[in-house]
Amino acid sequence: MVRRCQNPWHPPLWCLSDSPMPRPIHATIHTGALRHNLQRLRAAAPGARLWAIVKANAYGHGIERAFDGLRGADGFALLDLAEAERVRTLGWRGPILLLEGVFEPRDLELCSRLNLWHTIHREAQIDWLAAHKTQQPQRVFLKLNSGMNRLGFAPERYRSAYARLAALPQVDEIAHMTHFSDADSGKGIAAQWAAFQRATDGLPGERSLCNSAATLRHAQDEAVRGDWVRPGIAAYGSAPDSPEHDAAHWGLRPAMTLAARLLAVNQLSVGDSVGYGSTFVAEAPMRVGVVACGYADGYPRHAPTGTPVLVHGVRTRTVGRVSMDMLAVDLAPLPQAQPGSLATLWGVAEGGAVLPIDEVAQAAGTIGYELMCALAPRVPVSVAE
Ligand SMILES: *Cc1c(COP(=O)(O)O)cnc(C)c1O
Repeated sequence: MVRRCQNPWHPPLWCLSDSPMPRPIHATIHTGALRHNLQRLRAAAPGARLWAIVKANAYGHGIERAFDGLRGADGFALLDLAEAERVRTLGWRGPILLLEGVFEPRDLELCSRLNLWHTIHREAQIDWLAAHKTQQPQRVFLKLNSGMNRLGFAPERYRSAYARLAALPQVDEIAHMTHFSDADSGKGIAAQWAAFQRATDGLPGERSLCNSAATLRHAQDEAVRGDWVRPGIAAYGSAPDSPEHDAAHWGLRPAMTLAARLLAVNQLSVGDSVGYGSTFVAEAPMRVGVVACGYADGYPRHAPTGTPVLVHGVRTRTVGRVSMDMLAVDLAPLPQAQPGSLATLWGVAEGGAVLPIDEVAQAAGTIGYELMCALAPRVPVSVAE
């Protein structure tokens, strides 16, 4: 029997079961924000085609949950063959690119079956292709190591790799790709871009260079923009060059909200402490709220006292150490707060107030990427417009 859920906290999707009430923590994926962010990225790289990057389960948002907001992209780029299968299962017939290419020869079978485009970054991948039996030639992105020294052919090996690929009957079109290490900072892209120009000069094929930071900061230049941009983080509403610029500067909206309710409110006297290690001690009488969110939900344990948080959409701060299932917040600006009040750990609060994930990340000594990807499986997630 299907029971109507009495819990106003969880939207109807979660309420059509007899399962017990979950903890009062919840993440929301904002489809409209994903669409909006893609438009911003298209405006930053006019005329270029756009890969939606959905590696790491769409940066923690969930491929299936993010799909509707991202389907306006020209293709989906990812790492994992299982993720590629999931995108095809969602009905996507357009391009899918494996950003690290295949990991072993038999992966090429799946590339043929699912019509996946794949990156070629080392000689062995060319050997495997040469031995692969297929009726349907495959599209590949040849990757240049232009200075980041992660994946890709060294500049002096690039043209011979291209020539080998171009001679294979298994290969259809060959595009050129590189990845910038410093697009988000003052060092910039000039040296790597020049290396890419030299290595690819005169070779036919499409070009793809720009991650989010390069798309927002450098893709006004047509030669940098290329034919395909590859913005990941910005599509999810986090600024790739935080803290120099925030998401609002780039006109990006958060695609993920993490919110939880207060489980308890404690009145502290001068000298009372909060949490493990008693790292926070009240210097004046104060009220402290205990939020149903901890590091086992993906909130960073290293977030120190003072990390921003919203309660009822009003900005306040965390106090004391984050524990596995709970964290504490200063309720000084919130006399009306009580058990059940809603705390927004990042994203959009009721009333529309925004707490950028980048601010929480910076306080915790990390980046928005890591927080998104770390959203724990135990947190219920729903999709909203
Ligand atoms: C992850 C990734 C991107 C996207 O990077 P963002 O900084 O999230 O925009 C682009 N290209 C490659 C090859 C990647 O691995």
